[in-house]
Amino acid sequence: MSKSEQLFAQAQQFIPGGVNSPVRAFQAVGGTPLFIRRADGAYLYDADNQRYIDYVQSWGPMVLGHAHPEVIAAVVAQAQSGLSFGAPTELETELAETLCRLWPNMDLVRFVNSGTEATMSAIRLARGYTGRDKIVKFEGCYHGHSDALLVKAGSGALTMGVPSSPGVPAAVADNTITLNYNDVEGVRACFRELGDQIAGIIVEPVAGNMNCIPPLPGFLETLREVCDQYGAVLILDEVMTGFRVSLTGAQGYYGLEADLTTLGKVIGGGMPVGAFGGKREIMEQIAPLGPVYQAGTLSGNPVAMVAGLATLRLVEAPGFYEQLVAKTDRLVAGLLRAGRAAGIPFTANKAGSMFGFFFTEEPQITNYQQVMACDNKRFNRFFHGMLEEGVYLAPASYEAGFMSAAHTEKDIEETITAAERVFARLD
Ligand code: PMP
Repeated sequence: MSKSEQLFAQAQQFIPGGVNSPVRAFQAVGGTPLFIRRADGAYLYDADNQRYIDYVQSWGPMVLGHAHPEVIAAVVAQAQSGLSFGAPTELETELAETLCRLWPNMDLVRFVNSGTEATMSAIRLARGYTGRDKIVKFEGCYHGHSDALLVKAGSGALTMGVPSSPGVPAAVADNTITLNYNDVEGVRACFRELGDQIAGIIVEPVAGNMNCIPPLPGFLETLREVCDQYGAVLILDEVMTGFRVSLTGAQGYYGLEADLTTLGKVIGGGMPVGAFGGKREIMEQIAPLGPVYQAGTLSGNPVAMVAGLATLRLVEAPGFYEQLVAKTDRLVAGLLRAGRAAGIPFTANKAGSMFGFFFTEEPQITNYQQVMACDNKRFNRFFHGMLEEGVYLAPASYEAGFMSAAHTEKDIEETITAAERVFARLD
């Protein structure tokens, strides 16, 4: 029995499913999750001290790689001055100023502790600002687990949502409309019918929770257009894409104007941080300036702020994203080449330092239905093959992969060679 198997059995005695976030349980791919003891740069080390080249990177935050010395030094120094004060610090202003300086659509920003809190608060704010209740989201996009956002489409695009989890009241789901990602006509039809009741649209500008699905040309632009036309708030959920797709996220990359933006992951450098921010006029509706209530005991936590500040200082360096993206491109090209050479039907998507691949005959994957039609069983075999080779991919075929600055050319070569071996024995 491996140490991870032993630890997983123990964990299940006290924690539901042995994990504190469901995907970690390896439910989709089967087998036992690795219990991690430490991480360094591009590598994870499990409880048996096995090393893995890590393309999960804590689901995105570790853009510098794990345990970057400058981030760790900042965290250690801050911890020695106290862990939390529940009172303002200049560190919060410094991180907020950094975000507002870098992101043109951000006049004011509020920190929270997770991506879920950021999107939940942005939705409340959009509703408070517009005085409307309905929100639009897209199938396959994930925005955290707040009630309003845990909703799937009904059968037709314009039917009201149905909760995708027990415990979400039907009355809440009723106000969430779910449309197809990359479907411009669906968006227009929805707004023609219900536009004056819609508070806002929330969207992942590159979808990273149904594998990696970039927006088709015109999709995001249409969202902007209908929001302008009907007075709805456009919320770009950049929790995953922020400081991943580019220094200014997907909105910078695609030249898009957001009314509100949600952030998380990279801006906390691995500590629990989220943020929502945007146009002054909308953000001024938040308490204590305005009537829309939102708060948090640990929000703006000083240790988290210094981790974020140290991370953003490093990613701002000239050439940082060029190098990161070039490495991602090399990895993806190598995997495609290996798949082709082995005669495996295989395609890939990428956006900045995010990537995803699909076991499919289709030349391009652009929405949720297509993702679900891929050969997930083959992915699962590929996943376990790669794990045996010492490469840690996200343990589900509907998750994106992430490159870090710590991955070396040698790591990428090793990954491609491992994939060649796994493809060769994949049925
Ligand atoms: N929005 C997006 C786009 C995400 O990818 C996630 C998490 N993967 C969330 C929101 C929720 O963030 P958290 O898990 O920190 O609550």
